[in-house]
Amino acid sequence: MKLYNSATRTREDFVPNHPDIVKMYTCGPTVYHFAHIGNLRSYIMEDVLEKYLRYLGYPVRRVMNITDVGHLTSDADEGEDKMLKGARREHKTVMEIAQYYTDAFFADCEKLNIKRPDVVQPATGCIDDYIRIITKLMDTGYAYYAGGNVYFDTSRLEKYYVFNDFNAEDLDVGVREGVEADENKRNRNDFVLWFTKSKFEDQALKWDSPWGVGYPGWHIECSAISMKYLGEDLDIHCGGIDNAFPHHTNEIAQSEAYLGHKWCNYWMHVLHLNGEKGKMSKSEGGFVTVSTLEEKGYDPLAYRLFCLQSHYRKNMVFTWPNLDNAQGAYGKLVAKVAALKPGAGELDEAALAALREKFRAAMDNDLLTAQAVTVLYDVFKARTNDETKLAAIAEFDQVLGLRLIEKAAAKREAAQKAAAASKGAEFAVIPEDGAPDETVTAALLARRDAKKAKNFAEADRIREELAAQGIELTDIPGGVKWKRKS
Ligand code: AMP
Ligand code: ZN
Repeated sequence: MKLYNSATRTREDFVPNHPDIVKMYTCGPTVYHFAHIGNLRSYIMEDVLEKYLRYLGYPVRRVMNITDVGHLTSDADEGEDKMLKGARREHKTVMEIAQYYTDAFFADCEKLNIKRPDVVQPATGCIDDYIRIITKLMDTGYAYYAGGNVYFDTSRLEKYYVFNDFNAEDLDVGVREGVEADENKRNRNDFVLWFTKSKFEDQALKWDSPWGVGYPGWHIECSAISMKYLGEDLDIHCGGIDNAFPHHTNEIAQSEAYLGHKWCNYWMHVLHLNGEKGKMSKSEGGFVTVSTLEEKGYDPLAYRLFCLQSHYRKNMVFTWPNLDNAQGAYGKLVAKVAALKPGAGELDEAALAALREKFRAAMDNDLLTAQAVTVLYDVFKARTNDETKLAAIAEFDQVLGLRLIEKAAAKREAAQKAAAASKGAEFAVIPEDGAPDETVTAALLARRDAKKAKNFAEADRIREELAAQGIELTDIPGGVKWKRKS
């Protein structure tokens, strides 16, 4: 499998460090607000990578932190702790906010069929680990104490900028407009490992340390949590592209200074989801969440399909019409799967192997998910029986995670129930393209009832509503036939 590695800026063959485990680490959410669908784009694509590795037979162990302390409003250690801001906004304690938004995050992940990592570790649970690492960095001269804080000394490194294909603006952390330079720093990119002094003295959570009562910087948590659960090396580290600098750059600096050797082999970064006004971000407000999608009647899995239709290394623009297209495509996919008959024919191994080869070619090529989705459509066209088609869909969906088999079974069951109900009433609803649809059947039964009650206006309204969805009706004795306009 080829995977693009941001650290080398090339597509490389993926070779894990150990035969018995693939060590994967993901930066988790900062739990001061709901995750927006931009954050979730990153988690969906990381989930696809994990699922594909498992599909290939690799035993994956994946660890994720939950950022519940130390992430300041600027990634360059300036401003106020985001958690505190969230707590003040909602008149709750920091820990209440953390618990509430952590639960909300995993509820969203469940709806998007994102697997929960094997280990999920809140940052506030590992204070001793940060102190141990920072103590060694102090002892070895990689860290210094100034003005009440402990800083990492980036001038001690031969190479600090690892992902150095970012634009100069992004790299100018210390001189961003509106951000005052921290005078305690010896070098512009030095970063805080432990705070005891900040302009925001009302920090809620503080711990004792050799440098005074305070709290950890944001970057140290990921290095420490990764090492705690995965040891001294890491195969793949994931995150959104905004984390590459300074967060991941600082993780590498402090981890390798601490360990004295290379730490992580592959860096996978997911590009941004942009709204029409630019990058979707929690601090901007007005962002879209999974709940927004549901309130507007979208299936969260239609958003997953929307993400799969683009490559993870391209920026994506979110618009409602784009999501409408994905929702339509998702509904049709489920209907096509529902129309396949389980148990129709013997499993055709040769046909399955041919489809599998195409699927793997797409995924092995740095996760070309859009092409992998096209292979799903190829399955319906393949010259083989329904049993084999269903086996192929089930196999590929282990990776794509669209819950196609499950949704199709539910659809078939609902259609059978509706058919039984319409049979009892001696009224048949017949889908001409062979794909029963619960919602259409219900609408057509309502139209029958309206006609019976001589409410012709209502019957016409239902016909028009279906027509607007591209559905044509033909009344027949004892029922109605319907089909989608092609
Ligand atoms: P945060 O909760 O801010 O710590 O971010 C959680 C994850 O979402 C990180 O991996 C970020 O890099 C990623 N992320 C933030 N904004 C976006 C966006 N607009 N599109 C894709 N990923 C994002
Ligand atoms: Zn991180």
